[in-house]
Amino acid sequence: MIRKISHIGIAVKDLNSAIEMYRKLGLEVEGTEIVESQNVRVAFIPVGDVRIELLEATMEDSTIAKFIEKKGEGIHHIALNTDDLESDLQSAETQGITLIDSKPRKGAHQTKIAFLHPKSTNGVLLELCQDKG
Ligand code: ZN
Repeated sequence: MIRKISHIGIAVKDLNSAIEMYRKLGLEVEGTEIVESQNVRVAFIPVGDVRIELLEATMEDSTIAKFIEKKGEGIHHIALNTDDLESDLQSAETQGITLIDSKPRKGAHQTKIAFLHPKSTNGVLLELCQDKG
């Protein structure tokens, strides 16, 4: 079941300068990590219960690089936290929502993640994510 927003993913050109901007707001990075499966370097910035996930492409053919090329920097996805990713994913599909990932894959922080297709979610890329349990 989905209970809260996990994080908001923001595509940035330069991770370090984006981090600097958030520092000016008094926010601190929890950690940075490279997610090989998506060719991105990410930084998580906790804001209360929700995190901001800054995403920087590590390869030219990364989806983040393509996103920035097409739309510029900005909000890339919203991630909803679930306690049972497989079940919520299957239920979404059953109800006619188009999935990008029909099977969970590995996300940052040892999470399991799956994306829903923006064409069936009002133009917003939604990520379902389940914390390592
Ligand atoms: Zn994310």
